Amino acid sequence: MGPIYLDHHATTPCDPRVVEAMLPYFTEHFGNAASITHQHGRKASMAVEEARIAIARFFGVLPPEIYFTAGATESNNIALNLVKPGEHFITSATEHKSILVPAERMAKNGIEVTILEPDAEGFIHPEALIRALRRETRLVSIEAANGEIGTIQPLSEIAQICKSAKVLFHTDVTQAAGKIPVDLTNVDLASFSAHKVYGPKGIGGLFVRRATRVEPVLIGGGQERGVRSGTVNVPGVIGMAAALRLRVEEMDAEALHLTQLRNSLREMLLEGLDGVSVNGPLQLRSGQAPELRLPGNLNVSFERIEADSLILAMKRFSLSSGSACSSGEKGPSRVLKAIGLTDALAMGSIRFGLGKSNTADHIEMLIDDLKRVVRKLREISAA
Ligand code: PMP
Repeated sequence: MGPIYLDHHATTPCDPRVVEAMLPYFTEHFGNAASITHQHGRKASMAVEEARIAIARFFGVLPPEIYFTAGATESNNIALNLVKPGEHFITSATEHKSILVPAERMAKNGIEVTILEPDAEGFIHPEALIRALRRETRLVSIEAANGEIGTIQPLSEIAQICKSAKVLFHTDVTQAAGKIPVDLTNVDLASFSAHKVYGPKGIGGLFVRRATRVEPVLIGGGQERGVRSGTVNVPGVIGMAAALRLRVEEMDAEALHLTQLRNSLREMLLEGLDGVSVNGPLQLRSGQAPELRLPGNLNVSFERIEADSLILAMKRFSLSSGSACSSGEKGPSRVLKAIGLTDALAMGSIRFGLGKSNTADHIEMLIDDLKRVVRKLREISAA
């Protein structure tokens, strides 16, 4: 038996039912969805359009408002690309790198960029957004939920503010869609990805509200009505639709299960170990809306511990200290720094990401190992 997987914010295993739905589209129905002159192409095209309808229904939007991309990184890049030099862009310090790195480039290219700071639990305050709005503001981008500390943003309020100010609002729902209800009322653009919800990697989408004009990043053959050139990933699209269909049926029960597991992990950690503190929203509720933290998320700092050493020593588990996209980068998590942690505490933090295969037994094993390893590492560092 391999290690127990506790890093579901980084990615999730593809559900076997999703794989099954995809398989015929690699072999039998391999046609190019743009080849409408023959049956092979039409078969693929019809399947893609059915998937678009299912995904649009999942988000409560119209099928022509959904564009397929290679993932949320690409969707985020496309969304931000609509801002032009001389205009103003607002985002937050806890966004994914596929927002923050383009924002740096935008600032170099003559776009005014404002980065809103979160409070100590990771929330962006609507009043801070109102203060940051200017006449030149073209786009606001605030994520629905954070993949490190699990904070669920007041999305409807933020969307309403943008609408009243006649500013476009983009939200990255990659960590939220399929895990918690996401309301796209008053949202103009939204990015999502299949691999966070038991779908395949390398496929995602961008919702663009009708009459909103975007500027493509990839240009060429004009697929996806010019928004994203390149041959459509037919098996990926089928897999993403299958994954989201399953979420409709399974999300609520899973959210309840993960909330209970997460809350028991939290209690057992706080009771069983010294020098432990929880990062992100502090108010946890037992499966009752509105939950302010993603169901399977817990982020914890261990005093006098280096997360890297802890992760290495926890051999029975696949754990992570933060965003996989930033792993390989040295230094403390920028999300934890943004909510005010010291470098030492940020470097001693673990992000637990629970998923549907995790059980109460896993949590007990985890606590046993954590108690042993944390004690040992602290002894070594004190010696
Ligand atoms: N946004 C968020 C909030 C994410 O968590 C991720 C994945 N870590 C991405 C965007 C990027 O998604 P993808 O892997 O599909 O490019």
